[in-house]
Amino acid sequence: MEPLLVVKDLKKYFPVKKGIFFGERAELRAVDGVSFEIRRGETMGLVGESGCGKSTTARLILRLLEPTAGEVYFGKTAVFTANKEEMRQLRRKLQIVFQDPYSSLDPRMSVEEIVGEGLTIHRLAKGKEKSERVAELLEMVGLGREHLGRYPHEFSGGQRQRIGIARALAVGPELLIADEPVSALDVSIQAQVINLFEDLQKELGLTYLFIAHDLRVVKHISDRVAVMYLGQIVELTESDELYRNPLHPYTQALMSAIPAADPRPKGRRMVLEGDPLSPIHIPSGCRFHPRCPKRFDRCDKEEPVLREVSAGHWVSCHLY
Ligand code: SF4
Repeated sequence: MEPLLVVKDLKKYFPVKKGIFFGERAELRAVDGVSFEIRRGETMGLVGESGCGKSTTARLILRLLEPTAGEVYFGKTAVFTANKEEMRQLRRKLQIVFQDPYSSLDPRMSVEEIVGEGLTIHRLAKGKEKSERVAELLEMVGLGREHLGRYPHEFSGGQRQRIGIARALAVGPELLIADEPVSALDVSIQAQVINLFEDLQKELGLTYLFIAHDLRVVKHISDRVAVMYLGQIVELTESDELYRNPLHPYTQALMSAIPAADPRPKGRRMVLEGDPLSPIHIPSGCRFHPRCPKRFDRCDKEEPVLREVSAGHWVSCHLY
């Protein structure tokens, strides 16, 4: 099957000031050579600690940021060289649900205005037809017509996220990027919102890029999972395979941090040394080596490349 989204060697470096006095410049390598594909109808999980570059990757795909290098294709359209009309189409077909349901909804707009805005911008409906469509969308996400005239502050976090999802769905997207969509919600609400994403996918045939810092969250919804560390993908495989057989020491550490009530490969908890490193000071060789409990001679000298070590299982580590 043709992939719906292709990301090729994507890079985003931000210039930053290094020293206070001499205006020394440095580069923050937020995304540093990321490549993956998403098949139509699948959910790709993108997971890693905060600051690993996953949200920047999402913003690059949506062209909310211009890349330093690399290519993104949505179907046959090259996103970074798309003309005005192609961009207008892409803005409909690619939608995002943001992490924070509190700051992502304009408090001065009613739910009807928030959800209906895209219908107006893309001239998809107006007047009574628009109100009807908004009401349908609210029902689709588990809210009701009685909510049309209300304002964001009248809703709980979970309900606000449902409004954000309805807004994204209004324009008929094919790919939905969910950027940490449940991290700001209570654990008891998280499962409900994830179930909603799953139901909508079945109903509407959506494709998802589902971003989270917690492997537990992506596990339930993803067909495949890519693990990111310091701007690069270090492991990518089918979700079941990743949980059964995590290969990269970083994935193993993330996995071992999942509470024991969750089914996971048996073994001792692996504790990572140190805090996540800064993308301004990328270590030589394998960028994970200062924290890796399995590092050996070669690791600080030679950078590993992402290789397919068994069918569909990609890992970037000298151990394989
Ligand atoms: Fe650890 Fe070396 Fe593998 Fe990097 S290449 S993850 S340092 S074992």
